[in-house]
Amino acid sequence: MDEFTYRDGTLHAEQLPIAALAEAVGTPFYCYSAATLRRHYTVLDEALAEAGLSERLICYSVKANSNLAVIATLAQLGAGADIVSQGELRRALEAGVPAEKIVFSGVGKTAEEMRAALAVGILQFNVESLSEIDLLADTATAMGKTAHIALRVNPDIDAGTHEKISTGKAENKFGIAWEEARTAFAHAEALDGVTASGIDIHIGSQITELEPFGRAFEKIAGLLADLRADGHDIRRLDLGGGLGVPYGRDNDTPPDPSAYAQIIADTLSDSGCMIMLEPGRLIAANAGILVTSVIRTKQGQAKNFMIVDAAMTELMRPTLYGAHHHIAPIDEDTGAHDAAIKQWDVVGPVCETGDYLGLDRDLPVLESGALLAIFAAGAYGAVLGSAYNTRLPAPEVLVDGEKWAIVRARPDYQSLLAGEAIPDWL
Ligand SMILES: *Cc1c(COP(=O)(O)O)cnc(C)c1O
Repeated sequence: MDEFTYRDGTLHAEQLPIAALAEAVGTPFYCYSAATLRRHYTVLDEALAEAGLSERLICYSVKANSNLAVIATLAQLGAGADIVSQGELRRALEAGVPAEKIVFSGVGKTAEEMRAALAVGILQFNVESLSEIDLLADTATAMGKTAHIALRVNPDIDAGTHEKISTGKAENKFGIAWEEARTAFAHAEALDGVTASGIDIHIGSQITELEPFGRAFEKIAGLLADLRADGHDIRRLDLGGGLGVPYGRDNDTPPDPSAYAQIIADTLSDSGCMIMLEPGRLIAANAGILVTSVIRTKQGQAKNFMIVDAAMTELMRPTLYGAHHHIAPIDEDTGAHDAAIKQWDVVGPVCETGDYLGLDRDLPVLESGALLAIFAAGAYGAVLGSAYNTRLPAPEVLVDGEKWAIVRARPDYQSLLAGEAIPDWL
């Protein structure tokens, strides 16, 4: 459910017509709905509560959409943050997430990043290898601190998702091999500077079946029993993110949060542990659209092309993951009386064959300047953007009821080039 709806024949974000925002901001731009962000967080939190999981923490996965205003919206509801870099640590803190609700994930944390996170006293480091545990132990000891760690284990489960966003299989780079988990906990326990107090998994993203989660959580329950038998004091289970969302608008129906919460309760409610989740896409994807306008259409011999001012530089998901995003005109009536609906490849101006936003889409013939919305673009959209082809990164707008603000401005060319220099020998 989201707050992007047609009213009086034109698409609105909450109370505001998209066309008016486009007029004020210029296209392309991202538009986020605060009400939708809050709803997604609240639905998940209430589902967990209703399943009886009282000790819980939802750490929003900042990498899905790391705009400060987005993080702040969630922080105000009590969300924690799941971060994967020192930069995301800065964002989370600046947006008002308390350090004691921040977990630090990722396979490649450096000593400098560890120091930054230890200095502010984050809740937990999710560690992924023995050498990372050693470095964290040394770094924490040198600072006179103790890091709480959860060991990210790889349950070797196929989440049935796209290969580039599957993370829980044995051949993926993530986590400590299941068979080595007990050794790794023993290793950590023997070190100063770290306390192994949690188990962490994250099996992939855009997972649309609940069954892989169920299998993973059952494996966790088994490992928890083994680790406790080994004498480890495990207090937290971090079950990662990954719950899928609908991208097609009408057709696909991913699992609903209450069924997901029920599986957690069925497998882990007697664990005596705090249950932590790291959802990103679930919260942000349908809370954002990318608004673009038609530059021109081009009817080729084999295909029709609708060339728009957004591109793979704004939304890389179609070409990176083969992802489908629903695309529709802002004006609901466009083409309604027109039998001439055609099939279009909706493409950007970037000089790459892979620069498309949607292929073979049924859309009316649109004039130059007509506005289109690309839906479910709030997660892994703006964050994956680039300035390739020296394009100006698209601004981001947050709508909240009748209020709206530019929450990241479009840079100008001067600031885009500001960091570059021509050496004086040239
Ligand atoms: C990316 C990521 C997430 C969020 O995944 P979603 O599919 O967006 O929910 C959570 N945890 C970790 C460790 C991640 O890498």
